[in-house]
Amino acid sequence: MKLNKILVAAVAVVALTSACFAQTMSHGKNFYNPKPINRFPNTKSGRLVLVGDFHTHTEWGHGGLSVEDRIADAYNWGMDILAITEHGNIQGAVANTPADSKWLPKDAKHYTPMINDDGIVMPRQPMDLHKIAIPLAKKYGIIYFPGVETGIAGKEHIVAFNIPKDYKSDAYDHWLAEDPGQGEAVYYRDRFKELCSDGGFMIYVHPHYGYAREHVQWGVDNNYIRGVEVHNGSTSGQENEEWGATNGEVGWRWYGSFDYALKHNIGIYANTDAHGDKGPTFTLVLAKERTHESVMEACNELRTVGYFDNMLWGRERDVDDIISACVDVEKIKLDSNLTMVRIGNKSPMEMSVSVLDRDIVIPPYNNVLVRNETGRKNVTVTFKNVWTSEKTRLIKRY
Ligand SMILES: [Zn+2]
Ligand SMILES: [Zn+2]
Repeated sequence: MKLNKILVAAVAVVALTSACFAQTMSHGKNFYNPKPINRFPNTKSGRLVLVGDFHTHTEWGHGGLSVEDRIADAYNWGMDILAITEHGNIQGAVANTPADSKWLPKDAKHYTPMINDDGIVMPRQPMDLHKIAIPLAKKYGIIYFPGVETGIAGKEHIVAFNIPKDYKSDAYDHWLAEDPGQGEAVYYRDRFKELCSDGGFMIYVHPHYGYAREHVQWGVDNNYIRGVEVHNGSTSGQENEEWGATNGEVGWRWYGSFDYALKHNIGIYANTDAHGDKGPTFTLVLAKERTHESVMEACNELRTVGYFDNMLWGRERDVDDIISACVDVEKIKLDSNLTMVRIGNKSPMEMSVSVLDRDIVIPPYNNVLVRNETGRKNVTVTFKNVWTSEKTRLIKRY
């Protein structure tokens, strides 16, 4: 009898899992629309500019897309790298006990407690969103990272990816305790250590809770938190003022995050946090090769750049490496009095520049001729949409 119940439950789980494969989800109006090309040429130092998103959700958490559609959407956006980072626990919001359910988002679709007649909790079921995601991503040529989103209850959120293969989160991963011995929740320092053992990489996401508290600083100082989102596609913008975005020189942004990354020597990330269709927010990864190992090497060397709203936010070393390969300047002498300057843009961005006392926009993959009326021999270009800190832009001399 007991065994029968267990079998029935197991069969139900398998049926539910296969149903997910067959399910046709309803998509937002942009799901199948052609997406802009986001290919940057290899950098001057010979690195590939891989296009990544390290923070996304699916219906296994409280997102609206199935795992299959999340990966298809990433493919349609031309992504090289994707991480699915569900709240709850690494496998997705799958609860093993009724008590677990209180940690789950109310609309989590995969809440499937398995309890036998004696009220004993079954071992974790073979439901793991990454088991669906890994082979699919491989099929579509996407470098995939199992990830998880956790953090301090009601406060700072953390995304971890490249988490150890044998990492088994317990049922209370959803939120962590600020202090040791706070009920059932795991002490955040213990979880940070665990997530980062064996190559796990953590970033502070939508940093609406600021930088003043010891929790993030402890994570950064001890090399657990290795990056911060300077842009989050779901929570930046005026409509999300309550999430801490403030209005400034380039609109509603997470001001403070970029300079925090530079000051504390951590990576710069721009992720969608997409729950439904993805949007045009990318982390560019300057990797030597298109492999998991190379991506992690680049993350560890902090060679990541935020690309969103037609801007690059990154360390001067990295944006200079990208722009040097994207933009070329040629001086064409027509006669002794007239020199023209051709500026070529091999990037998918509209390049907004100040050059020869003019403000010019060079469309993606295009060239512009500018008459040099200044008499200057050297051409200085200020890249108005390429930021090297919150106050400085990339300037190059040709
Ligand atoms: Zn979050
Ligand atoms: Zn999220």
